[in-house]
Amino acid sequence: MKKLIFATTSKHKLTEIRAMLPGYDVLGLEDIGYHTEIEETGLTLEENATIKALQLYNHIHEASLGEDTGLEVFALDMAPGVHTARYAGNDRNPAKNMDKLLEQLTSKSDRRARFRTVIALADKEGIRLFEGIVHGTISEARSGAGGFGYDPVFIPEGYDKTFAELPSDIKNNISHRAMAVQKLVSFLASENPAGRPV
Ligand code: IMP
Repeated sequence: MKKLIFATTSKHKLTEIRAMLPGYDVLGLEDIGYHTEIEETGLTLEENATIKALQLYNHIHEASLGEDTGLEVFALDMAPGVHTARYAGNDRNPAKNMDKLLEQLTSKSDRRARFRTVIALADKEGIRLFEGIVHGTISEARSGAGGFGYDPVFIPEGYDKTFAELPSDIKNNISHRAMAVQKLVSFLASENPAGRPV
């Protein structure tokens, strides 16, 4: 089976990516026994995805993937963006993050937002970036128990439920992460038509 190694410890992200790519062996840092923390010191999603992919590549010397995601809210000048995980503090607490977001939007009529994912591929050719975006709106209150992170407050365009209320296969078809993963896989297939493992 073709192997993809992501520089992440997020079980949620790996679960989603595995569901999107049944033909691939998707591995995370824990699966390969890599326990050194990767610091997200970049100022953009692109930088952070690249930092993650490169640190892993410099360790394993085979094709490595880094992924970074941000929630960009139009009425907040695209914040929290690269600060999405720590929006309400360094404990990266999803409930506190969502509460802060809802509070920031109380007086705003424009609730448009988007999730943006950047995947970086690092290999002997250098770095390639793949972007995925899903547009939507921020709900008035948290709703739903599925998904993770900000899913209970994000209603994707074309739906009237949050990502946390929708079945996971819908999220995994239309999400920011799904779009970026599809671009990555198309690129790998075009680079590597024989389907050799990368
Ligand atoms: P990171 O990419 O792991 O740095 O995550 C950034 C922040 O975005 C964290 O607060 C995550 O919980 C959140 N996040 C990432 N992907 C998703 C998603 O698919 N849905 C909701 N929140 C997400």
